[in-house]
Amino acid sequence: MLRSADCGSLRSENAGDQVTLAGWIGRRRDHGGIIFLDLRDRSGAVQVVFNPETAADATRIAEEVRGEWVVQVKGTVNRRPEGSENPAMDTGDIEILTTEITVLNRSLTPPFYIEEDSEADESLRLRYRYLDLRRPPMLRNLTLRHQVVKYIRDFLSDRDFLEIETPILIKSTPEGARDFLVPSRMQPGNFYALPQSPQQMKQLLMVAGVERYFQIARCFRDEDLRADRQLEFTQLDLEMSFVEEDDILDLTEALYTGMIESVSPEKKLRKPFPRITHAEAMERYASDKPDLRFGLEMTDVSELASESEFRVFLSAIEGSGQIKGFVVPGQAGFVTGQMKDLDDTAKAAGAGGLAHIRYRGTNPVGQLSEDEILQSAGLRMPAEWHQRVADKMGAGPGDLILLLAGHQPRLNTWLSAMRTHVSELLELTDPDVLAFAFVTKFPMFEWNESAKRWDSSHHPFTAPDDGMEGELDGENLGDIKSKAYDLVCNGSELASGSIRIHNRQLQEKIFSILGLSKEETQSQFGQILEAFEYGAPPHGGIAPGIDRLVAILTGSTSIRDVIAFPKTQTGSDPLFNAPAPVGPNQLVELSLRITEQLE
Ligand code: ASP
Repeated sequence: MLRSADCGSLRSENAGDQVTLAGWIGRRRDHGGIIFLDLRDRSGAVQVVFNPETAADATRIAEEVRGEWVVQVKGTVNRRPEGSENPAMDTGDIEILTTEITVLNRSLTPPFYIEEDSEADESLRLRYRYLDLRRPPMLRNLTLRHQVVKYIRDFLSDRDFLEIETPILIKSTPEGARDFLVPSRMQPGNFYALPQSPQQMKQLLMVAGVERYFQIARCFRDEDLRADRQLEFTQLDLEMSFVEEDDILDLTEALYTGMIESVSPEKKLRKPFPRITHAEAMERYASDKPDLRFGLEMTDVSELASESEFRVFLSAIEGSGQIKGFVVPGQAGFVTGQMKDLDDTAKAAGAGGLAHIRYRGTNPVGQLSEDEILQSAGLRMPAEWHQRVADKMGAGPGDLILLLAGHQPRLNTWLSAMRTHVSELLELTDPDVLAFAFVTKFPMFEWNESAKRWDSSHHPFTAPDDGMEGELDGENLGDIKSKAYDLVCNGSELASGSIRIHNRQLQEKIFSILGLSKEETQSQFGQILEAFEYGAPPHGGIAPGIDRLVAILTGSTSIRDVIAFPKTQTGSDPLFNAPAPVGPNQLVELSLRITEQLE
């Protein structure tokens, strides 16, 4: 070994120890001929001191070394003189009195400082990812990610799960996104698809009698990277036989609570995880991934609003819309600027405008936003009416009531945006609090207006809820509930799963509702339909995303900060320069011709 100790591990108990350390040069300071260097390895940094009077040769070399050079030093651990300790460093009570230094490698001047916080532009950080990852916070993120995955592997192995790899080169298994395709050289004109998830394979493993499967699975979806997404991402994919929904949810909850208490004990984890239905989540929080760190719950006041003379309310109700809103406790005194900000948020989300009632003193007073549409009518209703609205919404003196009018599902989208905005404004979103919840009984289908057809809300393998199968022949497909569930945390979706269909006839019926012809069904899903005829056990599973979970646990604002080599928003890798053109020979080998070249 080139070292006898890790830089970050030394403490005052080590005073007097002879040590050999190796690492990278960080900051340097020269004080009257004495040189102080920070020496850093993965474990942390320590101050190494060179005194020309006691170590003349070493000091001469120390004068030469520059930031990020790789060196080995030998010396004695020394308790720092009183008053010169550095509480900001874990090793701040000690320093190394160096006797020898060997340069192991030099470094060019890095394009940015290798420090705790980097001001560097993200594209530069990704271009020099190996330097970016050398920064302590990035190494901490990778470490925590490792701990999360290790916890998962141990937890599931202890419960008789088998970790099984499934192939990356497969045939399309649709999860509702676009496939990445890989041309086959041996079978010209044919393509493999990269898995959007190992969904069908894990179900086939259940037919195979594996009973408990998991995999830390890479999934590929060729989507526009709008939000904080990646083209390839990692899921804990798991599946179990002979289980019901609660078995999967119980296991997931035990896994998450155990893991977080083990790897991030400083987090304020709320448990048990509430389980609410999709319908309830939409009603109370206007969202299927509600942030439960705070209340701000919704109330439907359509009935009361229908008594008002307010045109915006009345026309929404006439068109079978709703008037819905929430109470902002203690904020009746929001000034005009703050109200304008709320109104702007409502409009940016797509709403026509925001109505509000300030509950001042004992009498609620209706006031309208400055929006013209709203001013034209007016909530000039008797105080008694305002009181009834306030009572229905649970508002009291000092509270502010916000109301929006519109049609579902858009109204809920606006309300959810308002709820999030207000929570940020009032700083209700403590990042150390982890408020998980299971959202269950998702609708089976969603109407796809542009394609004029029904899509699966989750995926086509999801079983309808108990007693709902008969409804599949009916008219109201949008009302059918399924056995699909999500795990959400602090307003993000962290996992999706479902109890599956394990019967060929039912599965075929779902495909036909989704508009697939018999031929399409057979060519895309023939293998799983056939397998269902050979004794498929009842089964179900879930697939928690690892990237977002680690981002939440590390307090990272982007999932890119918890992935070693992520892609940019445009799907490129600035380090390897991917994607990139390939040579004509490779194209010929693959029987491909490029018909359109990018500028
Ligand atoms: N395969 C699904 C997904 O990737 C998860 C599941 O149903 O297990 O969302």
